[in-house]
Amino acid sequence: MDDDGFRDSLWRATAPPPPGTEALEGEQRADVAVIGAGYTGLSCALALAEAGTNVAVLEAGEIGHGASGRNNGQVIPTLSRVDPDALAAKAGEPFVQLVCDSAALTFELIRRYAMQCEAVQNGWVQPAHTPGRIKLAEARAAAWGRRGAPAELLDRDGVARITGSSYWHGGWQNRAGGKLNALAYCRELARAAIGRGARVHTRSAANSVERSGGLWRIACARGGVRAERVVIATHAYSDRLWPGLARSVFPVTSYQMATVPLPEAARQSVLPFDHACSDTRGDLHFFRWDAGGRLVTGGALVLSWNWRERLARRIGERVARVFPQLGAPHFEFQWHGRLGITLDRLPHVHELAPGVLAWLGCNGRGLALATAIGRELARACLGAPLASLPLPLTGMKPVWGHGVAKRFSSFALLLYRYRDSREPP
Ligand SMILES: Cc1cc2nc3c(=O)[nH]c(=O)nc-3n(C[C@H](O)[C@H](O)[C@H](O)COP(=O)(O)OP(=O)(O)OC[C@H]3O[C@@H](n4cnc5c(N)ncnc54)[C@H](O)[C@@H]3O)c2cc1C
Repeated sequence: MDDDGFRDSLWRATAPPPPGTEALEGEQRADVAVIGAGYTGLSCALALAEAGTNVAVLEAGEIGHGASGRNNGQVIPTLSRVDPDALAAKAGEPFVQLVCDSAALTFELIRRYAMQCEAVQNGWVQPAHTPGRIKLAEARAAAWGRRGAPAELLDRDGVARITGSSYWHGGWQNRAGGKLNALAYCRELARAAIGRGARVHTRSAANSVERSGGLWRIACARGGVRAERVVIATHAYSDRLWPGLARSVFPVTSYQMATVPLPEAARQSVLPFDHACSDTRGDLHFFRWDAGGRLVTGGALVLSWNWRERLARRIGERVARVFPQLGAPHFEFQWHGRLGITLDRLPHVHELAPGVLAWLGCNGRGLALATAIGRELARACLGAPLASLPLPLTGMKPVWGHGVAKRFSSFALLLYRYRDSREPP
């Protein structure tokens, strides 16, 4: 099921080709070895290469084979569930500021390296799906605004103007947010990193990370890399590489789809200012345009059985409900990917052993966040004391009963749908 999730994506059909890469052959030496060529690994590698560090990236599949090549491409400078004040209490104010600045950082990198990834920074809007969620929107706009975000509370008319729909009750927007072609951004990060001297090896799964002769040795099928430091950036695609790591996060499948290109009149009427949009539901309703005039949306399913037909029906009805002016949409692309959910809904950053760093737990909002955290992990590799970095450092905790819980994690969607149907207390 996993390869069609990557192969069939809109982004793969429309992104510029990846930079040329080869599988690792033979033994190499690096200052830092990065495992995983998604946003985290590549943002980290780019920052390290900028600093003149000898860095090698090892990727099991292609560049962007994980969530980074498959996501909705919404650049959102917030977490999905934990709001700024609660986040400050749990992870520290510097981390809240990192999240707050993460979209600006992402678009700044895109501009600096002239990345061809259909980037549009026209804002991200979060409409409220019940009248009671307006309070949440108010609190979010105020809390992010206090931290310097260009946040703005919107009444019902304001949201209707931005979304082209009278479906919601109001909401808020953050003008720092936006959208891009997910895989194109990932490939362009790789191109920038390679341009600065990083080596990126695809089809080079890391099979083990072991201490040998005062260095870490990462073994692949046909070679290995020896390095002082290692960044494990495998997120929800983590395997058995590091004991317990995969069991510290729940890989949850999110399904994506894109309509056929729609007429200009549709583009003028739905999200006419080209915002990225995801609402306050747990069973998230999210929408955006791609550069070719396709509405890119998707959703979650409790069961993966017959997912293409069931998703097309469910999301088709949703689009018709939210944007009746589009009629019954025809979907041209369907794909899926895995995102990393943590029990406390917080991102987790770990020092797994001296010189070995990892983070997981985007909880569905990891595009800008992975870009920002990747650069902080690079600073750690360059010698910055971990305690001086704005990162929520914790000990890695495999979840007890993970195997069983993982199998049933998609059933949490039923709880979200139930909660979505009720006003918050
Ligand atoms: C369908 C979907 C929609 C989403 N939509 C959004 C959105 O609109 N906005 C947003 O902010 N976030 C979104 N997210 C979340 C976001 O995509 C992720 O948080 C982000 O891409 C994580 O990047 P990463 O580099 O940490 O991990 P990944 O991109 O998952 O990269 C991990 C990489 O590690 C590789 N790997 C694994 N094991 C090994 C090994 N042993 N050796 C070598 N390589 C290995 C994998 O092949 C993979 O390429 C979405 C996620 C999904 C799945």
